Amino acid sequence: MRDTVVSAEKMAEQREYADLAGRLLYERLGRNPKACTVTFGCQQNEADTELLRGILSEMGFLFTEKAQDADLIIFNTCAIREHAEMRAFGNVGQASHIKRANPDALLCFCGCMAQEQSACAKIKNSFPYVDILFGTHALYRFPQLLYKRLSTGKRVFDTDGEGVIVEGIEPVRKAPPNAWLSIMFGCNNFCSYCIVPFVRGRERSRDPERIVDEAKKLVSEGYKDITLLGQNVNSYGNDLGAGIDFSDLLKRINDIEGDFRVRFMTSHPKDASKKLFDTMASCEKVCKSIHLPVQSGSDRILGLMNRKYGIEQYTELVRYARSVMPEITLTSDVIVGFPGETEEDFIKTLDLINEVRFDSLFTFIYSKRERTKAALMEDLTPADEKQRRFDRLLEVQNRISREINENYVGKTFKVLIDGESEDENYTVKGRTEGFKLVHIKGSGEMMGKYKNIEIERASTWALFGR
Ligand code: SF4
Repeated sequence: MRDTVVSAEKMAEQREYADLAGRLLYERLGRNPKACTVTFGCQQNEADTELLRGILSEMGFLFTEKAQDADLIIFNTCAIREHAEMRAFGNVGQASHIKRANPDALLCFCGCMAQEQSACAKIKNSFPYVDILFGTHALYRFPQLLYKRLSTGKRVFDTDGEGVIVEGIEPVRKAPPNAWLSIMFGCNNFCSYCIVPFVRGRERSRDPERIVDEAKKLVSEGYKDITLLGQNVNSYGNDLGAGIDFSDLLKRINDIEGDFRVRFMTSHPKDASKKLFDTMASCEKVCKSIHLPVQSGSDRILGLMNRKYGIEQYTELVRYARSVMPEITLTSDVIVGFPGETEEDFIKTLDLINEVRFDSLFTFIYSKRERTKAALMEDLTPADEKQRRFDRLLEVQNRISREINENYVGKTFKVLIDGESEDENYTVKGRTEGFKLVHIKGSGEMMGKYKNIEIERASTWALFGR
């Protein structure tokens, strides 16, 4: 067994702590304890929360959406941008009211922020009512940390350890049809603006047999849209030395019997290969949709970002993907106002957006992260200029998204219905294979099923059909 996988002995030890902590809580409360989990950030954090809920469930916890009703509140935080950190601190600040009303409630702070020294110090000093803080590497040790808090009455902090893989815990997922399935953790890329390798450790891939078994189980439980997760799924398997890469894994999941589809995120353009696109094209259950973050249209800025690809390589990938999958939907991330970005660099980004015509873009104004290389770079662009560039980018992309979506009108698509519509004129919503949001005039009976939906109208953000 690879040494990144937490050993069976260590997992058994945690089960003993889970038993002890669960009993202590039951004795104190005279009933099963209730937990409320609050998640910030990316899908990986969502998946981590599902794993935590699995641990809590084994300890006898029930779940509530209302923090004021909970005996244990967990904030799973995100460190990717300053804004996300401010939100997390804001939420922890508000939780002081809950602690005042119910001093026995336990408050936990975990996730990527907890793995940062500065955030950890702030929690220690400014939020004395936070009972337990633990980093991403300590997630599986939560039963031990909770037991320590309950048995000693002291605050507990655990940010130790290296990146690990935790197997053998059944995540508590949302009800079908959509499921996250982690295939790997961490990142080796050290893009100069990104904190992820510092807080999530180096790349480590799960055993393919475990992944395939979990996917089979999800399908048998009625999940119909499975998203394979990793910070850089295209380097899946590099650390296994087992002769399996991400395309091979996709094929194996595609071979599972059942009525489902599979998608993945996130891809790094330097590792996305023609083999990947050929595999996507030939596997009927693999969605013809990819999120391929470009970040900038300027080779100079990409160099400063340490992205290890150029725009020619990127556009060649897009051309190839579209040649083998003409229907593919393509989304991307762009950072505006990276240190040293000039108007000329920014125009190159606009040119790229106009050339590639992404279905949609996730756009961000650069956010300085301590410990990263970019944090040391000179950043002379004023904030209002960055905002102007951001607005210009959005205007261009919104026009493109609307034009692309308008081409869907009058056509029929297979849509997986997965929830109630937030639009007052529609009843349910779902996603196409290309992950387009569709609001539908339908009925609750459609929930969790694939339906052929005729698109009647389109906007920048969504399609509308029946
Ligand atoms: S690939 Fe780059 S941006 Fe993505 S998680 Fe790794 S370091 Fe961060």
